[in-house]
Amino acid sequence: MSSKNLLESILSALSNEVRAEVLKLISMEGPLSFTEIMERLEMNPKSDAGKFGYHLRTLAEAELIKADESSGKYFLTLLGQDVANFIYGVEDAVRRKKGDMLVRTSSLTIEPFDRKKIVDALIREAGVPRKLAESISKEAEDRLKKLQVRYLAGALVREFVNAILLEKGLEEYRHALTRLGQPVYDVTTTIKNAAYKEYPSPEKVHSLAGDAVIEEYMLLKILPRTIADAHLCGAIHMNNANYWALRPANIQHDLRPILQGKIAADGTGLMMPAHYSQRTFKGALYTLNCLLRSSSKLVSNSQSLNFFNIFLAPYIKGMKDEEIRSDLRDFVYELNSSSNGSSFSPVSINAELEIPQFLEPIKAVGPEDKGEVYGDYYDASLRLLEIFLDVMKEPDGEQKPLLHPAVFLKIRKKALVTDVGHECLEKACQLAQKWGTVYFVNHTLPWQQENVSYSADLSRVDSSWKDWASGTLRVGALDNITLNLPRIAYEANGDDDRLMERLRELLELSREALSIKRQIVEERIFSDRIMPLFKEELDGNTYFRLSDSPGIISYVGLPEAVQYHTGLDLADSEEPLKLSIKIVEAMDDYCKQMLPSTRLLISSTTFEPAAQRLTNLDVVGGYLKSKSVPIYTEHSNLPLATPIPLKRRLHVEESFQKITRGGHLFDLRLEEPFPTDEMLNNYTRRIVDTASIGLFTFTRDYTYCWHCKTISYGFHEKCPSCSYDGNRLMLYTKTFGRYKPSKIWSTYDRAYAMNNQRFTL
Ligand SMILES: [Zn+2]
Repeated sequence: MSSKNLLESILSALSNEVRAEVLKLISMEGPLSFTEIMERLEMNPKSDAGKFGYHLRTLAEAELIKADESSGKYFLTLLGQDVANFIYGVEDAVRRKKGDMLVRTSSLTIEPFDRKKIVDALIREAGVPRKLAESISKEAEDRLKKLQVRYLAGALVREFVNAILLEKGLEEYRHALTRLGQPVYDVTTTIKNAAYKEYPSPEKVHSLAGDAVIEEYMLLKILPRTIADAHLCGAIHMNNANYWALRPANIQHDLRPILQGKIAADGTGLMMPAHYSQRTFKGALYTLNCLLRSSSKLVSNSQSLNFFNIFLAPYIKGMKDEEIRSDLRDFVYELNSSSNGSSFSPVSINAELEIPQFLEPIKAVGPEDKGEVYGDYYDASLRLLEIFLDVMKEPDGEQKPLLHPAVFLKIRKKALVTDVGHECLEKACQLAQKWGTVYFVNHTLPWQQENVSYSADLSRVDSSWKDWASGTLRVGALDNITLNLPRIAYEANGDDDRLMERLRELLELSREALSIKRQIVEERIFSDRIMPLFKEELDGNTYFRLSDSPGIISYVGLPEAVQYHTGLDLADSEEPLKLSIKIVEAMDDYCKQMLPSTRLLISSTTFEPAAQRLTNLDVVGGYLKSKSVPIYTEHSNLPLATPIPLKRRLHVEESFQKITRGGHLFDLRLEEPFPTDEMLNNYTRRIVDTASIGLFTFTRDYTYCWHCKTISYGFHEKCPSCSYDGNRLMLYTKTFGRYKPSKIWSTYDRAYAMNNQRFTL
């Protein structure tokens, strides 16, 4: 046929609506038989067959369709496919002209419906092959047209496409195309319930809504199915799920490059005002506040200022005590006011009672360069520390405690024999007695290594990794994955081998998840460039030393797991204790096998309460019969509510602290009447001398009355001084290792605060 004649026969073939429908149908569904086509077009095979045969012949003569000789099915020729696309194009144009299907897009514009956009999205977002994308888009268009709505939301179009993908068994494509977000009802609930969250504010609502999206993103896009499923079913708990795909958990700062001005506190130096007097103590503290404020957004849990009193000591030269006190007070107030918001991560200060040997010969950073080394600043650093502890002890203007920062006081060997070390320890015990905001680090233990740093989230790093600098400065825990130990015990059903095998499987899974986390953080710092400070170059590395930063694996329910497995109670017999040590040692051995390439650490503390969720999932999963089971033990290796003599607890916990090199805490919750600071001091020395406890703290409960502005020790429902019993009576205690006022306790915090055992020394 000549091309002119062919064109004529095509145009004539298209002049009938049934024939156009046939072309569209085959282009969408692929080869179809005579009867199938008639059925789809709802024609009667008896009465319409003759007329329909004529239509098919016309199409075949125009070389648009062809019958397959073996199957007898009709398929589109290449020309036929082009012409079918042409029909779609004409239909789109007509629709646009009439404006009969409009789409409200996610970028908040309104556009006429355009099928090509579906094709593009399928190819771009999910890598669907073009031919398949065309066919799916056509089907979607047809279905949408049948709806007869004039106004479509982009989200609705997407749901249609997803439904088609699902019907066709193309689930992987659907995963890539799905939307993340909350149902309208959930957003309303988030707004209505925000007041019960920590630090409620409109911004909190905003961040909770974002949390939901980013957590889903982690589960759907970042993690392989096996890991996501393990989290969802409660075999493991991924801490910080809301930020898992975005940032590391914490950072151990090195103050020197910041104080020196080598690196700006916000990374770029462009957006934060520099202090007019950077070389003064005031200027130095201001710079640290800038640092904490800006990097608060870069970590999920906490920030740590290491060698605080040593690195700041050069700046107090020539100052009177009262001046130092006043500047430190401003610093602490600033910190506490920043901390009163949802996006500010808690700060810990690691303070020293002596200059560690490795710091002595190192050149000091200070206001003037006279070639001094840190070894020259022993007296100044302790003077600064004493004043700092005094400041922390003062209540605010209305007699409330200043809860930030958490002070981690490192007790090395020499400190115990010097007068000034002794005085500082006394002051720290006074602070512990008054507000409980001190954590004592027993640095005399060999397993604490040359240097150790703890964080406000209770995670721990030490210098066994390379050296003190690479091991403990400018590094941060990437994140924490918590194993549900009781679940492992249920699955092992008393079989020792199965228990260790399942443990190993979950460790393997956690290692994989943490290695993905490392890649994620790398991507966010270097290619996505959303953490300018961490990317800054310093001494041939970046400020955040990613490859030196550890991943943490923690656990909950150790006593419950062991009790289930052996039938014996950990609190009163040695046999189950041996098994629980064996479990935690196996976890630690696994981490050691990953050396020297990967830094993984075992912790007995979680970054967020996880046991409640994991216990509930074990009830839902049918592992636990009763609904009223106690929540699994977390942040401890013995059940916290069970009365167990202090001596026994100490004995058990010290067996674990030396293994859990990624984090631990022995929390001595004490009864009223509380011991005097002198008694605390003696007890502290005794623990340091005799126990293998690396980190411990004394917790005191107290009640603040807003009405008469007094603190009464212990928990009270009515103010002992003025009898006020309204809702502005605030209780304070440590829950999961951190002081929190009752205003921001969750129900789980409240249970933790109220039920756990208190001791007398
Ligand atoms: Zn009162």
